[in-house]
Amino acid sequence: MVFVPSGKELSHFPFLKKAQEPIRARFASLGSLLSTPKGQALVDLAVARIKEASVPRKNHVPAVCDTPEDEIAAYALARIVASCVNDRQLIDRLTRYESERAYYFLVDEEEWNSGYMQEDGEYSRLWMAIADELGIRIEKDRMPVPDYVELVAPLHDDRFRLINRRVEQGFVTVNKNERYELLRERVRVMLRRDLPHRVPKEICEQLAPRAAEIKAAYQEQMLRQFGKVEEGAFPPCIQALITALAAGVNLTHPGRFSLTAFLHNIGMDTSGIAALYARSPDFDIEKTMYQVEHITGRGGTSTEYTTPACAAMQTTGLCVHRDHICEKVSHPLSYYKVKKSLPHKPAPAKPQAPKKEAE
Ligand code: SF4
Repeated sequence: MVFVPSGKELSHFPFLKKAQEPIRARFASLGSLLSTPKGQALVDLAVARIKEASVPRKNHVPAVCDTPEDEIAAYALARIVASCVNDRQLIDRLTRYESERAYYFLVDEEEWNSGYMQEDGEYSRLWMAIADELGIRIEKDRMPVPDYVELVAPLHDDRFRLINRRVEQGFVTVNKNERYELLRERVRVMLRRDLPHRVPKEICEQLAPRAAEIKAAYQEQMLRQFGKVEEGAFPPCIQALITALAAGVNLTHPGRFSLTAFLHNIGMDTSGIAALYARSPDFDIEKTMYQVEHITGRGGTSTEYTTPACAAMQTTGLCVHRDHICEKVSHPLSYYKVKKSLPHKPAPAKPQAPKKEAE
């Protein structure tokens, strides 16, 4: 029997075709819908969804609307509003949020659906329906090599490299957690590919006040996060890494890791960290964002890494230009705290040439 997801299930995976079919009819005359109280209520939900997506959070449990229909409409409308805002970073955050959301519900619901597992494997019928629509072919714990290679192409995590995988008779072994991760990545790529939508000008004009509200909220949030970071208080090792980056030096893995973890630990958000990496001449936004989100625990591993201590930095050759504060600390984060707490001293005046005495 063909499995048909329930309305609630569809609302958790609103990008599925079955979820989108009724929306097309509902949005057929979007302009008219937006001018009704119901339309305004849906825009409120869509704006809330974008705002939620724009704030980085750890272990976030997604909010859900009262009805599956409104949930699906809010998803679709959020993509329309984000297309009108047309900010690349905001769109990236929205698509990442949607893929994380799907990941959350899939893990949650597959456990709940465990009574409906396939006879020959450990997959729920919900997983099979989603994987099928996303074009993911998987049998038991194996995936054909070509499919696997295509799926992991945007990922830069070493553990997904084919060379590090078990490959037998044209199949790659994939464990349960990895297939969730691969599905999340497929959702992200698929949703990102379709944005921004080409939204009719009149619709964007109708949504302009809400788009402005989102831009302002996003800007404020970025400023709040950046405001407290003081680059002048960075320890010499971190300053050296940033200088090397700007000079086009290809940082070693420990170098990138230490820099990213440090910036994240002091409260800089992923966009801010990526902005620092943008000083590098060979900056690659996709690759950088992936690495940064992985290290900062937003890449699905839920593992947040901490800056290595000074002893480890010495081992990897990253402890350079030590100064007098270094003598008192054993961790770059302690250095930062100490230096930030010091009263700001005016820059020392340039030494002046001694005046010639009057003869
Ligand atoms: S002693 Fe610690 S804080 Fe100072 S440069 Fe070395 S690693 Fe950085």
